[in-house]
Amino acid sequence: MPQYAPFTFCNECSKPHPFPILLFLDEEIAQDHSIANIYDGRELPPALLTLTNNQLQCPTTKAMFTQKDNNQVFLVRTDGGGLPPWLRQ
Ligand SMILES: [Zn+2]
Repeated sequence: MPQYAPFTFCNECSKPHPFPILLFLDEEIAQDHSIANIYDGRELPPALLTLTNNQLQCPTTKAMFTQKDNNQVFLVRTDGGGLPPWLRQ
């Protein structure tokens, strides 16, 4: 089952930061689409419903922020290989 890491772009520094979860989805997700776009007209998987409650910390500014807009949340496929280098903090 494909494994994905959700990430969003930081309100503070504009870089991509990962949410602290990985999830398995039983479908192939088109990369470079927001979850609002991917799940347009469908229910979000439960693991993605709680993302808007997750506080993220910007590693650069140390500021805490939340991302309430699913148009700004994206998925990248990891398949057990961990986060891609451009997403590691
Ligand atoms: Zn940041």
